[in-house]
Amino acid sequence: MALLQISEPGLSAAPHQHRLAVGIDLGTTNSLVATVRSGISTVLNDEQGCALLPSVVHYAADGEVLVGQAAQEEQSAYPHNTIVSVKRFMGRGLKDVGDVSNLPYRFVETSSSGSGQAPGMLQLRTAAGVKSPVEVSAEILRVLRVRAEQALGGELVGAVITVPAYFDDAQRQATKDAAKLAGLNVLRLLNEPTAAAIAYGLDNASEGVYAVYDLGGGTFDISILRLSKGVFEVLATNGDSALGGDDFDHRIYCWLLEKNGLSALPAPDIRSLLTHARAAKEQLTDHLETRATAVLSSGEVIDNVLTRAEFHEMSQNLVQRTLQALRRALRDAKLTAQDVKGVVMVGGATRMPHIQQAVGDFFGQAPLNNLDPDKVVALGAAIQANVLAGNRGGDDWLLLDVIPLSLGIETMGGLVEKIVPRNSTIPSARAQEFTTYKDGQTAMSIHVVQGERELVSDCRSLAKFELRGIPPMVAGAARIRVTFQVDADGLLSVSAREMSSGTEASIVVKPSYGLSDDEIARMLQDSAQYARDDMQARALREQQTEAAQLLEAVDNALQQDGEALLDAAAQARIRTSMEALRAVIGGSDHQAIKRAVEALNQATTEFAQKRMDQSVKHALTGHKLSDLES
Ligand code: ADP
Ligand code: MG
Repeated sequence: MALLQISEPGLSAAPHQHRLAVGIDLGTTNSLVATVRSGISTVLNDEQGCALLPSVVHYAADGEVLVGQAAQEEQSAYPHNTIVSVKRFMGRGLKDVGDVSNLPYRFVETSSSGSGQAPGMLQLRTAAGVKSPVEVSAEILRVLRVRAEQALGGELVGAVITVPAYFDDAQRQATKDAAKLAGLNVLRLLNEPTAAAIAYGLDNASEGVYAVYDLGGGTFDISILRLSKGVFEVLATNGDSALGGDDFDHRIYCWLLEKNGLSALPAPDIRSLLTHARAAKEQLTDHLETRATAVLSSGEVIDNVLTRAEFHEMSQNLVQRTLQALRRALRDAKLTAQDVKGVVMVGGATRMPHIQQAVGDFFGQAPLNNLDPDKVVALGAAIQANVLAGNRGGDDWLLLDVIPLSLGIETMGGLVEKIVPRNSTIPSARAQEFTTYKDGQTAMSIHVVQGERELVSDCRSLAKFELRGIPPMVAGAARIRVTFQVDADGLLSVSAREMSSGTEASIVVKPSYGLSDDEIARMLQDSAQYARDDMQARALREQQTEAAQLLEAVDNALQQDGEALLDAAAQARIRTSMEALRAVIGGSDHQAIKRAVEALNQATTEFAQKRMDQSVKHALTGHKLSDLES
C-alpha cells in the first residue's frame, strides 16, 4: 500500500516532486558536484568523503580509465597517458594553446573537415587511442554524474555547468558536448563568477558592483559584476590563463633546488618535489613555518624549513600580477576600486594569507571568504540548477552574462565588421544592414568571426554560410539585414535576410572547434562505457523490432503473392536475404542488423512494386473513373 503523503504546511496539497538537479564546477585543477537538499546547497562527497575530484584522467593500455586521485597517482609513471588541466584544451586548436613543448602529451591535430578552413581541434594520443579534450572532460563529468545519482538515489533531470566568463563560443560548445557525452542534460552553462556571487546570496544583496577574484590551480580570473534589479551583469573580465596556485608551488620548488644546489633532476623527482612544494604552500596558510622533507632517487635527502615570511617574499610578484589584471578589468568597466561594494574570493589558492591581504588592501575592505573558496562555484551552480529544474517556483531569474569577445562578420578586403561588441550582455540580439558590391549579385557569403582585431585573419572563424536568391540589382541597392542572436548559454545563431524579396538564410553557429552531432553520435558508440548504456541498448532493441516486423511482413507477402508474382529465382533471392537477417537479428551488433534490413528492403523492392500495381489494379476493377474522382 502506498504511504500517505503529507505536504508541508502552507504548501499546496499536491505532492511536490523534487526534481534532482546538480551544479558542476568543471575546474582546471579540481571538479565538484553540488545539489540543493532541504533548501541548502551542499557539495556531494565521494565514498572516501572527498569533495574535490582532481581533474585528471588516466588511460591505461588495457582500456581502463582512471579519474581523479587514482589517475593523479599514475601521473609520474605515465605522463602522456595521464591528462591534467584538460580544460585548457577545450575547444582549442594546437595553435591556440601556444607553447606545448614542455607538456608531456602527444598532440594530434585533426584535419579540417569539409570546406572549413579553421584547423580542427587538437587531440591527444593515449594508450587507449586518440582522445579529444571533450572526451577527456566527459570522463570527469561522468564520475560526478554517477556520484550524484548514487548520493541522490535517482536519475538527474539536468545540470548547470560552470565555465570561465571569458570562454568563447567554441569553448562553451565543447563543454556542452562533454556534458552530453557524459549523459548529462545541460540546463544551462553559467559563468563561474556569477555562480560564486549566487553562492554568497549576492542576488539578494543590495544593488551595486561586485568583484570576483578567482585564483585556482593554474588560472587567474577577475570578473566585475553589477547587480541591479535582481539581475547580474558581467561588466568586465580579465585574468591570466597561465597564473595560479601551481606557480606558487613552483617558486617553492625552485627555492628547494637552490637550497640544495640541485639542477637537472629526473622527471619523477621533479614531480615528487613539486608535490612537496604544494604541501608546504598549503601548510603555510595555517602555519608560520613548514618543513619539506623528501628523498630523491639518487638517495639524497632534502630537509628544509620554510617560513611564511620567506614564502610571501618569493611569491610577492605573482600576487602583484593578479592586481595588474584587476586594474585592467576595472579600467574596462570604467570603474575604480572604490566603486566596488563587495569582493568574493574563489579558488583554493585564495586561502593564502598574502592574497587575502593584498586583495583587502586593494579594495580597502575585507573580502567575502566564509565559504570554502574551492566549493563556492559548485554551490552557486547547484542553486541555479535547482531553480531551473523548477524546484523553487516563483520568479525565474534571468542571469545576465557578457560576451567575452566581439562577434562580427567579414566585409570586403578581409575586414571585420563588429556586430555584437565585447562585453555586451546576453541574451542579446543585434542586427546590421549590408549590401552587395557587384551589379546583379545574387548570392552573398556570410563569414562569422569572433575577436577584437580588425583583420579577419587575426580573428577566430566561427562559421560560414550563404544567402542565395538575392534579386539581381545594381551594386549597393540590395539591403541585407544580418541578425546575431546570442542565447543565455552564450551560443550564437546568425541569420541574413534580403529585405526587398524576404529571402532568408541562417545558421546556428557550431564552431569548427566543437563537435558535429554526427561526431558526438560516433563517440557515443565508440565509448566503451557507453556500450552498456541505455542508449545503445535502445538502439539495438529498436533495430531488432524493426527487423522482426519486416521479416513478418515479407513472410506474409511471400505466402500471399510469392507464387503469383515472382519466379523461383526471385523468390529464392528474397529468402536468402531473409536468412541473412535472421542470422544477425538476435546478436548485439545493431549496425549489422541495420545492414541486413537494408539488404532485405532492397531485395524486395521489385516485389513490393508488383504487389502495389496489383492492388491498384484490384482497386480499380469495377469502378468507373468518375467514382474515383469524387
Ligand atoms: P581550479 O579552479 O583550477 O580547479 P581550485 O580552486 O581547486 O582550482 O584551486 C586549486 C589550488 O588551490 C591549488 O593550487 C591548491 O594548492 C590551492 N590550495 C588549496 N588549498 C590551499 C590552502 N589551504 N592554501 C593554499 N593553497 C591552497
Ligand atoms: Mg575554479
